[in-house]
Amino acid sequence: MLKKSIQILKEFTSSSTTTRCDVHMKLNHSFNNWVRNIRTTSYSVPREKVECVVIGAGVVGIAVARELALKGKDVIVIESASTFGTGTSSRNSEVIHAGIYYPYGSFKALFCVKGRDMLYKYCSKHDIPHKQTGKLIVATRPSEIPKLNDILNHGIQNGVDGLKMMDGVDAMKMEPELQCVKAILSPLSGIVDSHSLMLSLVGEAENHRTTFTYNSTVIGGHLEGNEICLHISETKSLKEWNETSNLQPELVLIPKLVVNSAGLSALALAKRFTGLQNRVIPPAYYARGCYFTLSNTKTTPFRRLIYPIPEVGGLGVHVTLDLNGQVKFGPDVQWIDGVDDIESFQNKFDYSVHANRAEKFYPEIRKYYPNLKDGSLEPGYSGIRPKLSGPYQSPVDFVIQGEDIHGVHGLINLFGIESPGLTSSLAIADFISTKYLG
Ligand SMILES: Cc1cc2nc3c(=O)[nH]c(=O)nc-3n(C[C@H](O)[C@H](O)[C@H](O)COP(=O)(O)OP(=O)(O)OC[C@H]3O[C@@H](n4cnc5c(N)ncnc54)[C@H](O)[C@@H]3O)c2cc1C
Repeated sequence: MLKKSIQILKEFTSSSTTTRCDVHMKLNHSFNNWVRNIRTTSYSVPREKVECVVIGAGVVGIAVARELALKGKDVIVIESASTFGTGTSSRNSEVIHAGIYYPYGSFKALFCVKGRDMLYKYCSKHDIPHKQTGKLIVATRPSEIPKLNDILNHGIQNGVDGLKMMDGVDAMKMEPELQCVKAILSPLSGIVDSHSLMLSLVGEAENHRTTFTYNSTVIGGHLEGNEICLHISETKSLKEWNETSNLQPELVLIPKLVVNSAGLSALALAKRFTGLQNRVIPPAYYARGCYFTLSNTKTTPFRRLIYPIPEVGGLGVHVTLDLNGQVKFGPDVQWIDGVDDIESFQNKFDYSVHANRAEKFYPEIRKYYPNLKDGSLEPGYSGIRPKLSGPYQSPVDFVIQGEDIHGVHGLINLFGIESPGLTSSLAIADFISTKYLG
């Protein structure tokens, strides 16, 4: 796979007048012929200069690759898994957030509000399954009402249109299974089929000369003068590596621009870039969120998303609907240890959902859905939040680091892209191309 990818990479670096026919002819050249013609590192590793590399084919990496490609750049996406979107991007609530919760002026607030509009437009234009369901954020007892007021004020300050505080009785008329004393209606919230979204973005990127290279892992990098050299290995080699020897790259790419969009592994990977100062790499925290699905129910109890008051580390065990009408509850917050860097590149995190966690879900859900029947929750799936702050620390914003922050020319690190990263993906991509391509 890597050999085939290297051949494709050669096409990127060949003449810009290369035609499709040339590409096919050159792809038939043997790998060895080509390797003989390129410079090697001191470890005799093939090296190649390329224009842009995006590390990680999650929704953010894909959106960035597409945006760079639309701006005329030659882009290579290096993804350790066998296809796109197998990380956090397929382990979330698939909610298009309106932008209510995040501190005013933060990247999270700005990108969520802008990204939400971009996402709705994109989905409509490209026929991506999505629905503007609307959402109710609910106070289930009078003591929660001040917090609900704060949330409303945040939302208004962030520029979220259409928010409306409602009496519980009116909210309960809209959603007869709901129990609450007050609620905020957010009409701009919705849901999206994240896989269809990623598929569409991948297709567009590929149509603009982006190459997606799967089963290939960036294992580190080093600086040579003004250039960053990325060390790349087949993911298979990581699986076979026995830890008694140094992990050696099988290919070194020297891009003009690198976007580290490795999600849960972005911090661990940055630590393996020799020459990038450790002080710019924040500590990593991981918070698993488990989902339970609703069974034994003939009809969907809610038409809108229902969210309680946020808890520490997450938005609370909420009701999410998928586009097939299935109801899921979650995610909760469970702080977990990470895994080591090489394991994280292979996504060896613990995604198990233990059935006994349901015991904590029932009382949480019954606060706003008292008719939830015993035995109706079944373990679903889980996702892990790539966090930059730990339990009981203040939430930290998305971190986007370029040369202005870490001093390394051509490197952009994306750290802590937790929720609302899916909603924000198109806006993050737009920001990166505007700020760093000029
Ligand atoms: C429980 C949960 C619920 C959420 N709900 C929502 C929601 O409703 N709405 C919303 O807007 N957001 C939500 N989010 C956030 C959203 O899912 C993420 O922000 C988004 O998916 C992040 O995308 P990404 O591309 O940065 O990361 P990822 O999807 O994790 O992609 C990173 C990719 O990098 C690859 N990779 C890792 N290391 C390497 C390496 N060394 N070399 C090559 N490739 C590598 C991985 O295999 C992976 O494919 C939620 C998140 C969680 C955890």
